[in-house]
Amino acid sequence: MGKLLCGVDIGGTKLSTALITETGEVVDKCIECDHVDKPECLMVDQITYTIKRLIRHNELQESDLLGIGIGCAGHIRFRDGVIITTSNLKGYKNYALRDAVQSSFHIPVILDNDANAQAFGEFKFGAGRGYDSMVFLTISTGIGAGIILNSKLYRGMTGTAGEFGHTIVEPESTLVCTCGNRGCLMACACGMALPHLFKQKTESGMKTFLNLPRDFNYASVDGKLLKQGLDLDDPLSMEIILDSAKYVGIGIYNIFQALNPPLIVLGGGLMSWGDFYLNQIKRTFYKYAGNMIFDPFEIVVSKIGPDVGVIGAASLVLEK
Ligand SMILES: [Zn+2]
Repeated sequence: MGKLLCGVDIGGTKLSTALITETGEVVDKCIECDHVDKPECLMVDQITYTIKRLIRHNELQESDLLGIGIGCAGHIRFRDGVIITTSNLKGYKNYALRDAVQSSFHIPVILDNDANAQAFGEFKFGAGRGYDSMVFLTISTGIGAGIILNSKLYRGMTGTAGEFGHTIVEPESTLVCTCGNRGCLMACACGMALPHLFKQKTESGMKTFLNLPRDFNYASVDGKLLKQGLDLDDPLSMEIILDSAKYVGIGIYNIFQALNPPLIVLGGGLMSWGDFYLNQIKRTFYKYAGNMIFDPFEIVVSKIGPDVGVIGAASLVLEK
């Protein structure tokens, strides 16, 4: 057996740790949900303890692992292994997480943004196999992305390249992003926009077939509710999904013009809206791209599935 990879995915609700083969199969996995309110040093202890426990449970030694990759949402200064800011956890301002974990291990520890990690996972083991460049977009509560150029993640000066969620697609929009700007792609198109869009359209008189409770709270509108609406041919749900697709299509068009990649891979919870959503994204993209596509270009859905976070984190170890 070849060496294994260890992946750690620090999410806003789950801390996932897994051992992965060099071909991307999960050997063993542990999911914990009690990390969010912990101060930095206690979460480092938790990560370290969980990795050592997984190694022990599988009758392995640390030297059986090639390295440990950690994915974390937020702005990461990659070369220093530092979390600059993250909205998922309390604290962690300019926190040197990589070195804190590294101090308990002799194998390399790598820290990167979670979307970069997922992008590299899709590149190594998923929809990006066989390509040398691609852009990955994850569309869920927010929008994250990772850029792979010539088999390497492109991270930019700080490590924050690919924040396409903050590119502005509608400067006059009433939707305000977490960054404070109006009309960012993620303010208009993803999970965080859904309650506002649902409220706006309801207040403008649109009817919904959804059977909403008497004490319905707009804040509860999410991708799952709109998927129910889509399955009922609910006009209000369909219109919101079409709006989202339009902005994602514009976002992909802008990415295409900036980087000219051969492949865009789409992941994240809102892709459960299925072909209705994907086809409209493509329709918008191709409308704008017109006759400016000169070589084969694909927009596809991610292949790895729900373990993409932790598999992606582990895959960072394989980046040369
Ligand atoms: Zn923004």
